[in-house]
Amino acid sequence: MATTLEDIRSPFDGSVVGQAPVATLADVDLAISTAVNGAALWRKTPAHIRSAILLKAAQLADERQEEIAQIISSENGKSLIEARGEASRSGEIIRLAAFEGSQLYGTTLPLDANKGTGQEKFGFTMRQPVGVVVAISPFNYPALLVLHKIAPALAVGNSVVLKPARTTPLTALALAKCFTDAGLPDGVLNVITGSGALLGDALVSDKRVRKVSFTGSTITGTRIASIAGIKKLSLELGSSCPVVVLDDADIEFAAEAIALGGYINAGQVCISVQRVIVQENVMADFLAALQPKVEAIKIGDPKAEGTKVGTLISEVEAKRVEACIAQAVKDGGKLITGGERSGTLIKPAIIGSVDPRAAIAQDELFGPAIAVSSATSAAHAIELANSTAYGLGAGVFTKNIDFALQSAREIEAGIVHINWTPLWRADLMPYGGLKESGIGKEGVRSTVEEMTEVKTVIMHGKSH
Ligand code: NAP
Repeated sequence: MATTLEDIRSPFDGSVVGQAPVATLADVDLAISTAVNGAALWRKTPAHIRSAILLKAAQLADERQEEIAQIISSENGKSLIEARGEASRSGEIIRLAAFEGSQLYGTTLPLDANKGTGQEKFGFTMRQPVGVVVAISPFNYPALLVLHKIAPALAVGNSVVLKPARTTPLTALALAKCFTDAGLPDGVLNVITGSGALLGDALVSDKRVRKVSFTGSTITGTRIASIAGIKKLSLELGSSCPVVVLDDADIEFAAEAIALGGYINAGQVCISVQRVIVQENVMADFLAALQPKVEAIKIGDPKAEGTKVGTLISEVEAKRVEACIAQAVKDGGKLITGGERSGTLIKPAIIGSVDPRAAIAQDELFGPAIAVSSATSAAHAIELANSTAYGLGAGVFTKNIDFALQSAREIEAGIVHINWTPLWRADLMPYGGLKESGIGKEGVRSTVEEMTEVKTVIMHGKSH
């Protein structure tokens, strides 16, 4: 229905890389009405047929991997190396969803264990699709974060209205085409592109929608939670992920991992390393190991051979990150390396001597810099790790099994990595944050649970 198209531009050089429709509120209404019909049709479609269509979509995603990687890199600005890595996971996520969607088991209920109930009654549970799912995704992983919502939603028999980020709609449209080309019936997957600020309230508050699955900033997630009304909600939000390096850790190995985990996708990852908390007696060794690794990261034209890390999503964002780094220095931090901006590119930065209460540690940066602070002891390190409003991912480098287990228990994060950074994800694992990092879990099996309802059925027979 939307007739206006807008240009989608490369964050690297501003060139037009495609066009997408600019949806209106009338389009939201139409998309939801269409999805209501789609949900009615799709929930009655046997699971083996749904699964076959998903498996075909997975095959198409595999075949179109390079095309999808080029689109991701063009509209998002990440390097082709990273975009290819992202696109290569598409088929696998869809296949995982096809499998999990065929496993909607229920349980039988031992009702006669309930005092006063005999064996004449029989109870069981069944898992059913919720109906219409609204999926809203951010720009930073335009393929993965779309697929982690739509593939499980479709696999279990829901219809979807997908609103991708305004800056990265082309990847979402290319992925949606894999499903429709695979034979997904009309009305089951509906993509609307345009402004989240304009369309968001109507999408999330509509009573015909039974589930909102949102990934994005904590500020937008807070608004959605306040107006969504009575429906299921999954909110994957912001973070300031800590990594603890204890004095018994393999310092070289930790520095290697942190030089990856703080800068991939120009730090625009919810599980990016933002804070590094180092036991003070190994601080000098750690910084000496880290600095050359960070300085060796090649940034530049996302499509150029050899570029490891590309641009930020826009110049506005790059200027915001530049200002945060400058503020960190004003707040007493020491800029050890990087931080220079050229258009949408920022040189990977390390800021040392950071006061853990400073904004660079407390607020989400979403840029290519890490803030290094020192801890006096292992217990102090855990206290600092827990000192922000967020709780998505955390990492701990230590050879001490007792401290590893204590960290796993006491660090307030949805995902804790021992001897790696938070920047690691298997698509099958439960994934989601605590505190202001959100509610609910993604990861295909978890999403299947969150996108289905458990119904309890009791059959009342006569006693003999
Ligand atoms: P964002 O500004 O919150 O946008 C995310 C999505 O929400 C976009 O599609 C956006 O549309 C839409 N939106 C904007 N206003 C809305 C509203 N009022 N109602 C409903 N939807 C609305 O986030 P972003 O800048 O794209 O992404 C970065 C954030 O995502 C970071 O905070 C990051 O930590 C978080 N993130 C979290 C996870 C996780 O798993 N926890 C994963 C990835 C990213 P427009 O693009 O049109 O504005």
